[in-house]
Amino acid sequence: MDTSAPAPGDGGEHRPEHTEPAPGGGPAGAPEPEILCSRRGCRAPAAWVLVWNNPRIHTVDRRKTWTACDDHRDYLADFLSVRGFLLETVPFADFTG
Ligand SMILES: [Zn+2]
Repeated sequence: MDTSAPAPGDGGEHRPEHTEPAPGGGPAGAPEPEILCSRRGCRAPAAWVLVWNNPRIHTVDRRKTWTACDDHRDYLADFLSVRGFLLETVPFADFTG
């Protein structure tokens, strides 16, 4: 069992699972897989990236990320911050990894 990640929703960091091109995606535009909110059941596109680290099990330079929509940014940030894991919250558009 992987206990490295707190699990408010689907059990860990969000990874895009939908790799098929979006309808209408043509050769003119690079089809970007849509990144959705990490909150379980939420289908909203990500607007924020929460960068976090669990110092008890991760090295300090390890950066884990969750994505969040506007509605769930506070929920997910709270979840991480009460555990002391939250490092920063970055607008999705500004996040470069
Ligand atoms: Zn959401």
